[in-house]
Amino acid sequence: MTDCVFCKIVRGEIPAEKVYEDDNFLAFLDITPINPGHVLLIPKEHYENLYNIPDETMQKAGPIIKKLALMVKKGTDAEGVNLGMNNEKAAGQLVPHAHFHIMPRFFNDGHELWHGLPYPSEELMRQIAEKIKNNI
Ligand code: 5GP
Ligand code: ZN
Repeated sequence: MTDCVFCKIVRGEIPAEKVYEDDNFLAFLDITPINPGHVLLIPKEHYENLYNIPDETMQKAGPIIKKLALMVKKGTDAEGVNLGMNNEKAAGQLVPHAHFHIMPRFFNDGHELWHGLPYPSEELMRQIAEKIKNNI
């Protein structure tokens, strides 16, 4: 896609600090990391988000994400690694080219995870599970 910042990185029109590349994927350092060593993995083909990525590409992504998690952990001496993917604006997606975040974490790095809230009732929890299951 002409105007897409990550497609520009794939085409070499914008510089990026690459850490992994194969025929289908490219991984590079996020320009505003949550901690140094925060990596983004993208399919080289332009897909807007998770929903559009072909299953075949997703099957290839799994082992690469695992490899990158270990590379990031070892390369930064991280005490933990978070994986993330923001899909659609409501979920915080800023760049509309699908990407996986691989983020090194440290005790006392100041970051928090989401705060979960319990369901108001077991019935509501069961209903929501039912609705999700109906969309398989
Ligand atoms: P999102 O919120 O869409 O999941 O995250 C997009 C990420 O892309 C952000 O963490 C942002 O720092 C990163 N990013 C945006 N533009 C560029 C860029 O031009 N180069 C690199 N390396 N990262 C970028
Ligand atoms: Zn793109």
